This record gives sequence, structure tokens and C-alpha cells, in this order.
Amino acid sequence: MSGTTGAAAAGYEAVIGIECHVELKTQTKMFCGCLNEFGGEPNTKVCPVCLGLPGALPVPNLRAIEHMIRSGLAFEAAIPAFSKFDRKNYFYPDMPKDYQISQYDMPLTQGGVVRYWLEDGTIKECRLVRIHLEEDTGKSTHAGSGDGRIAGSAYSLVDFNRAGVPLMECVSEPDIRSAEEAVAFLEALKRTFVQLGVSDVKMEEGSLRCDANVSIRPIGAHELGTKTEIKNMNSFRSVQRAIDSEIARQVALVTSGGRVIQETRGWDEVHATTHSMRSKEEAHDYRYFPDPDLPPLEVSENTVGWLRVELPESVIRRFTRYTGEYGLNVQQATQLIDNPSLAEYFDACVALSENPAQSVNFVLGDLSRLANETGVAIYASPVVPKHVAELIALLDGKTINSKIAKDLLERMWSGGGSPKAIVEREGLAQTSDPGAVAKFVDQVLAANGDAVAQYRAGKTNVLGFLVGQVMKASGGKADPALVQTMMTQRLA
Ligand SMILES: [Zn+2]
Repeated sequence: MSGTTGAAAAGYEAVIGIECHVELKTQTKMFCGCLNEFGGEPNTKVCPVCLGLPGALPVPNLRAIEHMIRSGLAFEAAIPAFSKFDRKNYFYPDMPKDYQISQYDMPLTQGGVVRYWLEDGTIKECRLVRIHLEEDTGKSTHAGSGDGRIAGSAYSLVDFNRAGVPLMECVSEPDIRSAEEAVAFLEALKRTFVQLGVSDVKMEEGSLRCDANVSIRPIGAHELGTKTEIKNMNSFRSVQRAIDSEIARQVALVTSGGRVIQETRGWDEVHATTHSMRSKEEAHDYRYFPDPDLPPLEVSENTVGWLRVELPESVIRRFTRYTGEYGLNVQQATQLIDNPSLAEYFDACVALSENPAQSVNFVLGDLSRLANETGVAIYASPVVPKHVAELIALLDGKTINSKIAKDLLERMWSGGGSPKAIVEREGLAQTSDPGAVAKFVDQVLAANGDAVAQYRAGKTNVLGFLVGQVMKASGGKADPALVQTMMTQRLA
């Protein structure tokens, strides 16, 4: 039983808010010219600015700011004319300045709403509080075994390559009600950021990290219960498991007369439980103040207007177009949307063929199989959307049957070009002429006396065999429906 189902059974509902950090894809870091690249030898992508050396001055990265505005606009957030950077003061060994440049009361984007879908196609909404911009910290690695304080390690290493990488923090309102919804919400963020090209969103490389605020309350209540914040979830699967486990823990605690304490809890993947880490710090603990090295940001209406015009169709709009207008199922729509270049290819096929059902069959069926077998992406293959549309027209017009269509796709994949030209050149058009088909049927009946006798004796399943023989005799070109009808008539 999931945490959500268990909570409902006990008369409680979960209230969940998500905070997630997403590393932005830029050439250079947020405030200096060091390369923003994952990995590499430790401490090789550093300079006085990202190491926080005295006298170094930060210069904001324009591309990162544009990424932020585009992300905000994609979720219908407001883009204030003025925003500013603040210093968030705390000590951490992987943050040499002893403060992090972040945004406090005047972030780059405010509000907004994320629309996402569940596996059954239900569309849900979660409001955003804000998306703000900050810099990432370095990375500590606790190593060796000994009596060191941290997780039994002997010493700690620190790598500043990640320090100063532009990071956006998305904070949601507590509109989420289950672990499943939380994951679907994160999937929607991920799809949008990938589509916009603002981030690679690779959880395994830490470019998306998320925390969840979880509380429970009696079903029907309006006030919020005391929340805990869960950290250390490093995959969508662990988000689901951690939230479920935390909901179950809180319900068990409250129904046995206990009380939830506001605290930060870590997720333990191995034991599938959350554990207390520390009491939660409040915003005032960080002594935010405007960064004196960075003047406020002024974003003109003109800039916002241009960025808005250039936005691609939103992910949720594409989903409703695919499932509504085109009649695709949720799985087909999701599969296409998760691969934006494939979705664009599919859209081009539909625009030319006006046949979404057949286009999706080819794109997710034979073409995807050929792509897997050859390691060549569909859009990079010699099969252009125009030729897919031609193939669909040949099928729709019954010039060819589906068997020939399959063979043609293989040949198009190896550079065969226009399917229409191949059909004309090699006389592959389907034979729908009753006289010609009748000849093949007669041949097959004459050569398969045994099968005919069996059929007449009641073994009607030999019909498939006989039809197959006719298809073979015709070189695969006979119209299968016509063969079937004719054969049944002759045998009657
Ligand atoms: Zn640097």
C-alpha cells in the first residue's frame, strides 16, 4: 500500500511542496569566465571569482538570466521589471566566500503554474511560488574510513569545479497530494527545461536535485500540518519512495498520539526510510542582504516580449494536442514528448500526411526499431518526413499493402529515397485487379489439394495458410483483403 493510500485509509491526506535545484546549461559559470562543464580533474575549472578570493568581482551571465526568464514564461510566471541578487550567509567548507549569491525578496520570476499529467492522462496543476537564480556550491567528498565526524570517514576532499555554476531554484506551492503527483510534476519540469535547452536535467550528474516538504492533515481540513523537509533524493524513483515512506511515518506517528516535529530528514535509499538530520533553519537565520557587488537587474518589457515570442509550444499544450486532436494514447504522447527532436519529426510527418495514427505507428514502430538497430537517430536518417508522408499516402490509397510498406521503410532507411519512385520503378504497386488476383488464387488452389480438402472437412484454419500462399505467389503485392474474400468464396 502506498503512503497516500494508507493515509486516506486513516482519514488523512498528504500536502506536498517541492523545491528543486536545476543547473543551467551555459558555456561559462554564473559570475566568472570559468567553463560550466560537468566532471574533469578536481579544481581545474576555477578562478579568483568562483574561489571567493579577496577583491574578485562577479559579473552576471546574461545567458543564464535569459534561461531564467524563458523558464518563468513557459510556466506563465510574472517577470518583474526589477530584481536583485542577495547574499545568503552561511559557512560550508565547499563554499569559500561563506555566502552564496542568491535571490531573496526580489527574484527574477514570480508565481506561475505547472500543468502536468499522470499515467492515466489526468491533468493536474501545481502553482509555483517563484523560480530564482543562484550559484552552485563546490562538492565535498568524505573519504577513507576512520573516526572522522562525517559518516565514519577519515578525511574530506573538496572540488570547486561546480562552485559558481548557475543554478535555478524552483519552489512550488503545496499543491501536490501524492508521491505519484510529485514525480509527475518533476517530469513536467524536466521536459520543459530540456525542451527550452536551459538544462540537461541529468539527475545522475546532479543537474537536478530536489527536496520535498511533506505534511499531513485530516481529509477536509484547510490548515496545514507541521511539515518536514526531505533531502538526498537522487532519482525520481527515490522521490516516490521517500515521500511515500514519510507520509506513512507521519500517519503512524499522529494516529498513535504523537506529533510531527518540523525538521530536515534525509532519505536512506538502502533502508527505505527517512531519518532526522537537523531542525529546520528559517530564512532569517541566513541574514540575507543585497549583494553590494551586483547592481539590481532591470529586465525591459521588450526583452520579455521577444523571449515570449520565441517560446516553443508548451509541453502541456503539445500533450493535449497529441491526446486530444490527434487521438494518441498517453504512452505514445509521453514517449514523443520525452524526445523533443522525435516529436518535431512526428509533427512534420503529420503536417504532410494529415494522418497522425499512421505517422505515430511508423515513428514509434518501425522507424524507432531501425534507429535502435543502426544507432542512427530518425531525424538524422535518410528517411525524411516528406517520404514518410508519401508512404502513408501509398498505404491510404491502397497502392501498397502494409507488408510492402514495411519493406519500403527498410529500403528508405538505407538511402532508397522516395517510396513512390521505388514503387513505380519496380512495379511494387498492390494488385487489386480481381482478374490478376483470381489467377493467383486458382494456382494456389490447384497446387494445394490437401489443404483444400482439409478446409472442406471443417479445418477452416488452413485458410490463413492458403491466403499466405497467394500473397507469396504474387510477390507480396496482392491486396490481402481481396485475396481473403476471393479465397473464402472459392472454398465455399
Ligand atoms: Zn571562476
